[in-house]
Amino acid sequence: MEEEVKRSKLEIGQSPAGLEGPGFFATSLEKAVGMARKNSIWPLPFATSCCGIEFMATMASNYDLGRFGSERLSFSPRQADLLMVMGTIAKKMGPVLKQVYEQMAEPRWVLSMGACASSGGIFDTYSVLQGIDRIIPVDVYIPGCPPRPEQVIDGLLQIQRLVESESLRRRDSQEYKDLMTKYGIE
Ligand code: SF4
Repeated sequence: MEEEVKRSKLEIGQSPAGLEGPGFFATSLEKAVGMARKNSIWPLPFATSCCGIEFMATMASNYDLGRFGSERLSFSPRQADLLMVMGTIAKKMGPVLKQVYEQMAEPRWVLSMGACASSGGIFDTYSVLQGIDRIIPVDVYIPGCPPRPEQVIDGLLQIQRLVESESLRRRDSQEYKDLMTKYGIE
C-alpha cells in the first residue's frame, strides 16, 4: 500500500507555464529549453577529498541523484554542464580546476560543495585556496563539513532553479562577458 502511495506521487517532469486547452499546449522557446536543461544536467565531479565521499553517498541508491536527471556523470569537461567542486583545493590545483572550467562548453554552472571548496574551510594556510570563487565564478555554495547528502540534493535543486529560469541570451550579455573578463577567462 505504502509503495502504491509512493508511486502515485512520482512525476516525470512538470511542463513549463504556458497556454493549454484540449489538444494543445503553447509556451515560449525559452521556457521549453529551460525545462529540458533543468532535467538533464550532466555533472562533472571534481572531488579532491572527504566531501567527494559524501557525494558518492548522494549518488548511491539511498539518495539517488538520478531522480533529478543527473545520474550521468561526465569526467570529460566537454560533455558536462555542471562543475561540482568538492574538497580542499590546493593552490597548485587551482590552474587545473580553471582549465577544466574553461574546457566546459556554455552554458555551464558551478556548484561549490563544502567549507573547503567554498572558503578553504579549516585549512587557513599558505597552500590552500581560500575559496574557488577566487579563480572561477560560482553559482551555488553548499555549506557544511561535510554537507549531508540532503544538502547536496538541495544544492542541485537550487542549480536546477537557476538553469530553468536563465535567459537564453544571458551568456551573450555584457554583464556575463564582464564577469568572465574579471576572471581572466576568454
Ligand atoms: S569541507 Fe570538511 S569534509 Fe569537505 S573536504 Fe573540507 S574537511 Fe573534508
